[in-house]
Amino acid sequence: MLQTPASFTPLFAPHSDPEPLSFLFHQGRLLVREGSLALPDAALLGQIGAAPDCLQPLGLLDGRYCQTGWLDAEPALPPGYGWRGLRSLFGEMDEQLVGLAGRAAQVAEWARTHRFCGACGSGTVLAAGERCFKCVNCGHMAYPRISPAMMVLIRKGDSVLLAMHLASPVKRFVPLAGFLEAGESVEEAIHREVYEEVGLRVQNLRYFASQSWPFPHSLMLAFTADYLDGEIRVDQTEIAEARWFGPDDAWPERVPQMSVSSVLVDAHRPPGR
Ligand SMILES: [Zn+2]
Repeated sequence: MLQTPASFTPLFAPHSDPEPLSFLFHQGRLLVREGSLALPDAALLGQIGAAPDCLQPLGLLDGRYCQTGWLDAEPALPPGYGWRGLRSLFGEMDEQLVGLAGRAAQVAEWARTHRFCGACGSGTVLAAGERCFKCVNCGHMAYPRISPAMMVLIRKGDSVLLAMHLASPVKRFVPLAGFLEAGESVEEAIHREVYEEVGLRVQNLRYFASQSWPFPHSLMLAFTADYLDGEIRVDQTEIAEARWFGPDDAWPERVPQMSVSSVLVDAHRPPGR
């Protein structure tokens, strides 16, 4: 599952390192060497104008300094380098590095979008000792944006409910999911979303796992729940189709377990399905 490697520790202040691991993004895509998918070295960063003021400390991976940053304008790249979307690296790049790239993407995007204060428009500076930009004028503090979302697999006897979401980039049957509203608990969001999306009521919510999902900054909180009552009635603005999958049904095909969604589905997949 896509996640930060255990040997990583975050850092909030820059370190001097002649050969850092550098994650550099342009419009959400990561700069890599074609073929090997290696990250750019310090010389290349200088060559394409990735100045220190667009780089942020990320942390240490096995003691090696990692930094992340972005370029507003697309630079001319030397032959052999290109920009790759994170999803296209799943299964191709080292899994630890992809997990770290997901984290790097979120920190770079936060830095890119908080150069100025959201309250008064003045410039911001990095606060000491935490991942935070502070306004030089009014003191407003801006931390990386993390958007909690719930995911729930509803169980009914030996079947589970899976749905095809209209907005999803992957056309596949998956557990229900949706973002939390401000002021809402995860449990409240689950009851609300399940009723809104498929017209059912559920009970016995149980936490399954969570995952940071960098598209662009979700924190997915996955649960299971038991069916209580109701008939499936899909919200046609959000759901293309929702139905029960039991041991005798053709299940959605297995996909690599990069997301908590696939781990959650596979944990309930009947033998041989
Ligand atoms: Zn301000």
